[in-house]
This record gives sequence, structure tokens and C-alpha cells, in this order.
Amino acid sequence: MDLKGQAINKDMSLQSEIFQMSGEKIQNCYQCQKCSAGCPLNFAMDILPNQVFRHIQYGHRDKVLTSKTIWLCASCHTCSTRCPNSIDIAKVMDTLREISTRSGLAAGEKNISLFHKFFLGLIKITGRTWEPVFAIYKMKAGGLGGMIGFGLKQFFKGKIPIFPTFKGGKELKRLFEPGKGAAR
Ligand code: SF4
Ligand code: SF4
Repeated sequence: MDLKGQAINKDMSLQSEIFQMSGEKIQNCYQCQKCSAGCPLNFAMDILPNQVFRHIQYGHRDKVLTSKTIWLCASCHTCSTRCPNSIDIAKVMDTLREISTRSGLAAGEKNISLFHKFFLGLIKITGRTWEPVFAIYKMKAGGLGGMIGFGLKQFFKGKIPIFPTFKGGKELKRLFEPGKGAAR
């Protein structure tokens, strides 16, 4: 996608919001594309990481917040280590997920908000994953059918615990404090 030549939108609120929440300066991006070239998930994204940055610079708020990309990003930090301007791109992606969730816009990936809610809700309480919660998620999202047989097999092999285990304590609580970078 070539965004060169487009007029910069005066509404830069998304850029400012990202800076306020993460401290990252999107305006420092000069489109070298190193982030996109090294991203292991670039083949599945609808807009590449460098394009996300360009859209933010142009003030295309909805385009960014409804993209698949922000949800497909696996926070592997490859891009952040490659950026010549030391922009923590993975942190920006995380911030965008947060803003997208708060904004109430439809997420670019089907069922991703539901998954986000289930997964982070569970981690917030237990500090660990627990398979039955994902079965409930699959039930709500549709598509549990194909997994029932596999789930039962695993259960009878003793691979799925009946009760969740708890881990985390104060450290976990701290992760969920506003501005500390975990779930909201
Ligand atoms: S952190 Fe996200 S955007 Fe960056 S390289 Fe990894 S998957 Fe791609
Ligand atoms: S690596 Fe950094 S400067 Fe280069 S396009 Fe990506 S965000 Fe912009």
C-alpha cells in the first residue's frame, strides 16, 4: 500500500494517545520497513507494521483500530529490536489493542475480543491457563464440536486438570495495574 502523497490528517489524537499510554513516539518512524520485513506474521496481516505506523501518522484511527494486524501481532519483539529509531513496536501494538478494546469498534479478527476477555480474565484470577475455560470460549465462539473428542481423550489421560492452579500473587496483581502493560 502506498500512502505517500496523502495529506496528513490534522486529527493526530491516536498518535498522542499512544504516546500518553506507552511513551512511544510514532512520529519518529521514517518508513524504513525493517519492522515489516522481519515480522514472522507479516504474511497474515492486512496492513504491515510499517503501514500501521503510517496510518497512525495520517490520523487514520478506525483503519488501524479495526485492523487484523494489531490482533495477529504475537508480541515477539523482533520488530522492536530491528527498529533504527528504537521504537518499541510490540508495545505500540499492545497499546493499540487496548485502545481498540476500549473504543468499542469491531475488532478486525473474528471473536478476538471474546478470546481476549476469556484469556486475560483467567490469567488475572489464576495466573495460569486452564483448558476448561478455553472450552467455554470455544462454545461461545462456535466450533467446539471438533474439539470435544480430543478434549475428552486428553482429560482421560490426565492431561486436563479438574481444578485450576493458582500462581502469581503480588507480582500478578502488579501486572494488571493501570500502565503496567497487562490486561485492562
Ligand atoms: S512483535 Fe508483532 S509486529 Fe513485531 S515482529 Fe513480532 S509479531 Fe510482528
Ligand atoms: S522499523 Fe521503525 S522506523 Fe522503520 S518502519 Fe518500522 S517503526 Fe518505522
